[in-house]
Amino acid sequence: MNVHLTFDIEVWCNGWADLDREFASCFPRYVYGHSKHGDYALPKTLETLNRHGLRGVFFVEPLFSARFGARYLEEIVRLIDDAGQDVQLHLHPEWTDEIRPAIIPDVSAKRQHLTYYSLEEQTALIRYAKRLLENALGKAVSAFRAGSYAINEDTFLALARNGIGTDSSINRCYAISAPKLVCEYGTTAPITVNGVVSYPVTVFHDGLGRKRPAQVGACSFGELRQAMESAHQASISDFVIVSHNFEMLKPGRSEPDLVVARRFEQLCSYLADNPTRFKVGGFSSQPTSCVLPTKQWMPRIGLPPTAWRLAEQIARRMLSRGTGT
Ligand SMILES: [Zn+2]
Repeated sequence: MNVHLTFDIEVWCNGWADLDREFASCFPRYVYGHSKHGDYALPKTLETLNRHGLRGVFFVEPLFSARFGARYLEEIVRLIDDAGQDVQLHLHPEWTDEIRPAIIPDVSAKRQHLTYYSLEEQTALIRYAKRLLENALGKAVSAFRAGSYAINEDTFLALARNGIGTDSSINRCYAISAPKLVCEYGTTAPITVNGVVSYPVTVFHDGLGRKRPAQVGACSFGELRQAMESAHQASISDFVIVSHNFEMLKPGRSEPDLVVARRFEQLCSYLADNPTRFKVGGFSSQPTSCVLPTKQWMPRIGLPPTAWRLAEQIARRMLSRGTGT
């Protein structure tokens, strides 16, 4: 089974009211996450992957740099590319109305999701963002993930028009994420839409029977391991795991969340120890076909790893309260 370790890399400024002042402290937190324990944003993520010989896919959001300067985007892609990891395109159109000169004619209001834009607007936004990222990286990108997983049929057409052949934007835990396609095709196998191959984020049934995305910050290691084993047993072709540059940090701070950091270490160690069952890497423009028991089939796990995650959540809340600040 192909396992895709994906990371959405983005910088936020605690709202939109005081962007320049906030950016000065937010950029180092989101990119480096300096602390006395180490740098648990990008540096720790890259170091962990490389130590285990794993190659991840880093979907980097470039629009923020049209507001603050190309050098900030260059700094991010240098870290990732120099570590030998894969840089691809992420896009949060929330930045569109902050950029001058305007990328598209109508920037009168902030529109959060790509699905709130017309086909022509989506095409222009993706073209602009792709050029920003490729200029910083010095080479072409070929894969995409929409901010907040907000994608529709027009997005696939806009991607095809921009020469992007693979996508990983569909996440059935988000109502904004291609609901018609999810209903029609399910999300356990790659699908081809308007010539673009889309690898949905893997969603599984947790020990309580609820749908849960395979996200490092939101699942226990046991849940991720059992979901991968369940998918592997069912001969599923691809398993997509999501994380972000800030998932190993405590909310709003540069201090590491050591529960999530340990979980990521366990995940990488497990994948590195099982290379014959799990092939970790990027996305192919020619997916392996797989036959699902039913279109809506999802991996299923037992109760203990979900109970462990609930216990971890309580421990994380107590730990962050105990540190005071
Ligand atoms: Zn994002």
